[in-house]
Amino acid sequence: MARIVMKFGGTSVADIARIRNVARHVKREVDAGHEVAVVVSAMAGKTNELVAWVQDASKAEGSNLNIYDAREYDAVVASGEQVTSGLLALVLQSMGVDARSWQGWQIPIHTDHSHGAARILDIDGSELVRRFGLGQVAVVAGFQGVGPDNRIATLGRGGSDTSAVALAAAVKADRCDIYTDVDGVYTTDPRIEPKARRLARISFEEMLEMASLGAKVLQVRSVELAMVHKVRTFVRSSFVEPDAPGMGDFDNPPGTLICDEDEIVEQQVVTGIAYAKDEAQISLRRVADRPGVSAGIFGPLAEAGINVDMIVQNISEDGKFTDMTFTVPAGDVAKALGVLEKVRETVGFDVIQHEAGLSKVSVIGIGMRSHAGVAATAFRALADKGINIRAITTSEIKISILIDGAYTELAVRTLHSVYGLDKQ
Ligand code: ADP
Ligand code: ASP
Ligand code: MG
Repeated sequence: MARIVMKFGGTSVADIARIRNVARHVKREVDAGHEVAVVVSAMAGKTNELVAWVQDASKAEGSNLNIYDAREYDAVVASGEQVTSGLLALVLQSMGVDARSWQGWQIPIHTDHSHGAARILDIDGSELVRRFGLGQVAVVAGFQGVGPDNRIATLGRGGSDTSAVALAAAVKADRCDIYTDVDGVYTTDPRIEPKARRLARISFEEMLEMASLGAKVLQVRSVELAMVHKVRTFVRSSFVEPDAPGMGDFDNPPGTLICDEDEIVEQQVVTGIAYAKDEAQISLRRVADRPGVSAGIFGPLAEAGINVDMIVQNISEDGKFTDMTFTVPAGDVAKALGVLEKVRETVGFDVIQHEAGLSKVSVIGIGMRSHAGVAATAFRALADKGINIRAITTSEIKISILIDGAYTELAVRTLHSVYGLDKQ
């Protein structure tokens, strides 16, 4: 007997028929004698709909500004998961499985105060564990907890993954299974590159980079938690028949295992390609070249909650002025320009230029640590396709390249093929 947390994403619970299918996956594990907690997302599209309602409701008449109270945003958008948790509990009951739904506050899952992007601080799993002992299945609403103000707080988009991994750590589960609409983590997004291959295993570090650099298959925070708490996490498909061969294999379920680097025997130089669309570039011209300038620019941007990513500063030609270029998410451009206008006088720079519609493509692999020339291969391959590189950043295990958004798919497929990822 083992203890398993099973998480089902939006497409897996998109309607009652699919919820029934999910219930059969759950029943399979219960019948095998395991203790089970299930974490569910809202039905596919539901959270987007709720977010749009919040934006609509909070718009002052005649204004285009979208400023809303994040506590009420959370009250609204958390409701999607409340619905699916109750529905799955009902379907399980109808199949003879003793199941009960749980909202974040009932467990409780305590978060910090950052409504809309809250972090889980602590989960009291004791009542769930007691009920495991009675044979009861817990169906937990993902994406939500309760903040210090005693109000519902949501964990940021895609946050049900994080609910699942955090819950698995809290109840000391043997495994956390993330069921989704793909049967594992692929070498790149299979929606963009049909030749992408499923990875049997991927290291925590690589998965963290993949997720941070745009692969939305897991929320970044969930991978961080899995890494820190050493949660054995599998990404697998809910669209396989629950009784298909191997689905109940405890040690090796079909899917991708996220694990420690030393559990991976056959290490490739490059493991995957990720991409992030909707990046924007901001350039400051004739920036004074003196100590404190970067702090004067990026400090206020950080305080405004703007996530600055790639930063390129030119070498000053005359020792007095330089140029500075950096990227922000396209949705933050207006806010960033507002912040920059305020510091223009004190920091000292000339024009602010900006351009949206860019993409960042990234090559990821821990094998890069010990191999030279990986970056040069990417640059050559993109050049051969006539794709212009606007900025580059690297770390030990990744190379990120900023390009015109129109070339995203071409760049992903080109890089995927140049590193041989589409070959068996
Ligand atoms: P869920 O609703 O189950 O949380 P998501 O849509 O959040 O599902 O995540 C699954 C999707 O992630 C897949 O449909 C796929 O298009 C996308 N994806 C992006 N990169 C990858 C990758 N490297 N491997 C697998 N899926 C990926
Ligand atoms: N329903 C939430 C979202 O769409 C959380 C999740 O699905 O993980 O972002
Ligand atoms: Mg998701």
